[in-house]
Amino acid sequence: MKVLVAVKRVIDFNVKVRVKPDSTGVDLANIKMSINPFDEIAVEEAVRLKEQGLASEVVVVSCGSTQSQETLRAAMAIGADRAILVETDAELQPLAVAKLLKALLDKEQPQLVILGKQAIDDDCNQTGQMLAALAALPQATFASKVEIDDDHAIVTREVDGGLETLRVKLPAVVTSDLRLNEPRYASLPNIMKSKKKPLDILNPTDLGVDVTPRIKTLKVVEPPKRSGGVKVPDVATLVTKLKNEAKVI
Ligand code: AMP
Repeated sequence: MKVLVAVKRVIDFNVKVRVKPDSTGVDLANIKMSINPFDEIAVEEAVRLKEQGLASEVVVVSCGSTQSQETLRAAMAIGADRAILVETDAELQPLAVAKLLKALLDKEQPQLVILGKQAIDDDCNQTGQMLAALAALPQATFASKVEIDDDHAIVTREVDGGLETLRVKLPAVVTSDLRLNEPRYASLPNIMKSKKKPLDILNPTDLGVDVTPRIKTLKVVEPPKRSGGVKVPDVATLVTKLKNEAKVI
């Protein structure tokens, strides 16, 4: 079973993002970038399937600038076998990424495709669902457990107030949730090994995909600054303040 995993290069989750002064987006200059955390979980899951003898090959794919090669090397240090970069400096929106991944699915014919449930930079939570629709494949999103049962995947999903278990026929698209697993730290020998693993580079035209954005971002602004709290002497004062100042009751 070949597993294809999509990984995105995003601003590291520890970085406090700064909005550009002209409000057109987020400042990326001199910022630490990392593999999207949900994608790291997706890679870990695919590698575990390989370690259990259920997957034969783990292929990681990223779409973006040439720097995404670092992200792919990080995924190969976790244990992926090879990588594909769809290189472009164009702004990529989820539909464009889904179309690129669909073109790669046609080429690679994986049995299982794992994506993160969302990229922490755009918070779209769309690409996996769009890919499943474009490729006419079953989908199981927000997976907190994945088991392979012959030609089916049994996927447990975290839903409001409980867990839902789905059975989907392979090939299928699965998106990873936070509790699916805890990714390992890549060891130094594996980081060294990852540098020698194959990494192919294509571009959107090779795949026949038009990545022109469909959506225009009008404005990006920082959240309002939080004002300091105050201590109130008693409940009566609290209620008065909530009524007259905060106007929430
Ligand atoms: P999103 O729909 O943007 O929240 O992204 C959901 C998932 O799609 C991510 O966790 C990745 O697995 C995948 N994805 C999104 N953008 C890219 C990209 N540029 N390259 C590779 N995978 C991506």
